[in-house]
Amino acid sequence: MDFMSEGKKNKYGLNRTIPKDVKREVRRRSKFGCVICRTGFYDYHHIDPAFEEASRHDPLSICLLCPTCHSAVTRGSRSNGSVMRRYEEIQRASIEDVEPPIGPLDFDDGSAELVIGNLRYSPAVRTVLRYGGSDVIRVDPGKDREPGSISAIFADDEGREVLRLDRNQWIGSLDSWDISVVGRRIAVQSRRSQAALKLRLEPPGRIVIEHLDMRFGNAHLLATEHAFAAGRYLYDGQIGWCTGRIAIPVSHVAGAAIDVMSEDDIELQDRATRPGSRSLPSSSNDIVMSGRGGVLFKRLGIALASLCGTVHVYETAYGFQPIDIVRQVVSNSPSKVARYLGTGRPF
Ligand SMILES: [Zn+2]
Repeated sequence: MDFMSEGKKNKYGLNRTIPKDVKREVRRRSKFGCVICRTGFYDYHHIDPAFEEASRHDPLSICLLCPTCHSAVTRGSRSNGSVMRRYEEIQRASIEDVEPPIGPLDFDDGSAELVIGNLRYSPAVRTVLRYGGSDVIRVDPGKDREPGSISAIFADDEGREVLRLDRNQWIGSLDSWDISVVGRRIAVQSRRSQAALKLRLEPPGRIVIEHLDMRFGNAHLLATEHAFAAGRYLYDGQIGWCTGRIAIPVSHVAGAAIDVMSEDDIELQDRATRPGSRSLPSSSNDIVMSGRGGVLFKRLGIALASLCGTVHVYETAYGFQPIDIVRQVVSNSPSKVARYLGTGRPF
């Protein structure tokens, strides 16, 4: 049993702090959740030997237990023997036979907000990201103080799902390289040293995207809490990127903050919403600002504030830049994303 009060080292001189690589191995072997109930919030539990009797941190005898199941062991209503049997079963099982890790999300006060870069859309817009007419990220504040919800599918840079938000819970993908939950942060790596997603929970109702590097279909979204760039893979192998510092104070029900569509559909949207629209200053008239249609990046098939009806635009830009550099600029120089996309000169 682990008792924090007994000091940092046990009688064998073993430090209580479990090394990072051992923790990662324990998460992988536990398939990223409590080995008893699969909850995705957990402690590291020395099964046998207990920490006091252990001479090293052995990933084969340490597992993940949620606070409830951990307490059941501490109080004696579950034995370490049954925890070990369950841990061995989880390790042997294929990912198809194990429940994914699931954690609760708190939307109880009716608010629901997902922070992506400098997009200001909440609470006017429900559809945050739409691709080919389907919602990929959606927020639904509760009506009349009913609980709200967020539904989202997050993928890695190759388009494989890594984690989803399903109304009031998050569900991790078992084929991730790592899913770690520390305090209020959930981080998913699809490969070694390749962060796909970092979320920070700010309950009730608010989830902040600290890092997102996701491909979906032939589009890509790079985001931190300070900047975003939406990209489109084009036929010639280039990726065209757009960004915008915009605010959407009110929205039509069909509105979407980021809308990725076909060339034909964005042409139709441009024509249907054209009265009152104008081209924004750019080298061509590829960016069209329409009061009703949104900011249309016509070569990319991407609209910001799509069909929202009202939008304040402070800055927009688009350009064709290498993904590796766009990644760096979004992460490290959020205020320079627009300039870099437009000119290729970040610094
Ligand atoms: Zn549990």
